[in-house]
Amino acid sequence: MKVIVIGAGLGGLTLAQGLRRVGIEVAVYERDGALGRAQGVSLHVDDRGVAALQGCLPSAHVAMIDATMGRLRDKTLKLSEVDGSLAVVDAQPTDGAAGRARPGRQTHRPLLRSILLTGLEDAVRFEAEFTRFERLPDGTVQAWFADGSNDTADVLVGADGIGSAVRRQYLPQAQVLDSGRRMLMGATPSRAAAGLPELIGDNPAVVRIQDTTMVLGALRFTSPPTLARQRFLPALPRAAVATIEDYLMWALSGPVDDLPPSLQRIVDEAWPEMTSTLRVGMIPPIPPWPATAVTVLGDAIHLAPGFGGNLAMQDAHRLCSALIEANRGQLSLLDAIGSYEDIMRAAAPVPAKAGR
Ligand SMILES: Cc1cc2nc3c(=O)[nH]c(=O)nc-3n(C[C@H](O)[C@H](O)[C@H](O)COP(=O)(O)OP(=O)(O)OC[C@H]3O[C@@H](n4cnc5c(N)ncnc54)[C@H](O)[C@@H]3O)c2cc1C
Repeated sequence: MKVIVIGAGLGGLTLAQGLRRVGIEVAVYERDGALGRAQGVSLHVDDRGVAALQGCLPSAHVAMIDATMGRLRDKTLKLSEVDGSLAVVDAQPTDGAAGRARPGRQTHRPLLRSILLTGLEDAVRFEAEFTRFERLPDGTVQAWFADGSNDTADVLVGADGIGSAVRRQYLPQAQVLDSGRRMLMGATPSRAAAGLPELIGDNPAVVRIQDTTMVLGALRFTSPPTLARQRFLPALPRAAVATIEDYLMWALSGPVDDLPPSLQRIVDEAWPEMTSTLRVGMIPPIPPWPATAVTVLGDAIHLAPGFGGNLAMQDAHRLCSALIEANRGQLSLLDAIGSYEDIMRAAAPVPAKAGR
């Protein structure tokens, strides 16, 4: 069996690692260059993401990720100004119940991506923008790229994120809607964050002042990434760990001027290259479609507020298991893809206001 994956994001790379581990041929095509775009600085990884990484990655990769995550985040704090200083005024469990986030640990996103790429160097082609596919009479699928090249495989997976070109051709009825919400996201070194990392510890915290909401979280590496690399994954490029330090990540909606000076300073001191504006989109669910040799995962088919990365990795793990069953002859290829899609659709969030 040969699988083409479009998109070297969290879902696509997790899938490629899992397929390669059992010897299934996989080719990943990525539109961006090897350094990629800024896609957020850190990620809250919950039990779904951890199970997917453990299920798809070699044990050295899993050990490297585990060694460099922050500690468990099991509470969400509420901060408020008390006598002119920020203080914790409430703590809710982060337990996945009643719409609350699941417990998890924070990971440095560029590091996670480098770990996911390690060992796949010969399978990923960068600067290869997928444009369209054709289903061939023998049941295989041919993918075409912007430079005029093509490749053919038994399965084509669209793991190409919110703007998915695979989805646009395959499931044109699925539409991305702009919710109109905008967020400013950034990261500020802990040394410039004026005591806030100490106040919140490893937990996420929310501050609401007038029309402004700010969400904050600290990433404290449990062991220095350079040492973890030497110990667990020397094949990881040295540059992936060279300049990492503890930081505070934050997301802001509403005017910065509403914030107290201590929080305005966090925004002012942020790393400019890590600061970006995010448009919050949604994909209303579509009715089930018949399984073919083309499928989709992650943001390409569903968006989830704050946990889309976990769902993308979970999809990748589930699709990987289904393709392994098909490769072993335990299921037909289309039954395997259909069973993955049924579970993927059932797990996708259907809130009135989906986003990410
Ligand atoms: C600032 C920010 C913070 C976030 N925080 C969290 C969090 O804490 N926890 C969480 O679970 N989720 C979080 N998310 C959401 C999470 O990042 C996404 O849900 C996740 O990245 C989706 O993974 P994916 O593999 O589906 O797509 P992506 O990771 O978006 O990867 C898609 C890839 O496809 C490539 N591509 C696109 N088009 C083409 C094409 N035509 N040809 C070839 N390649 C193409 C893209 O370049 C990209 O590399 C956050 C998102 C942002 C922006």
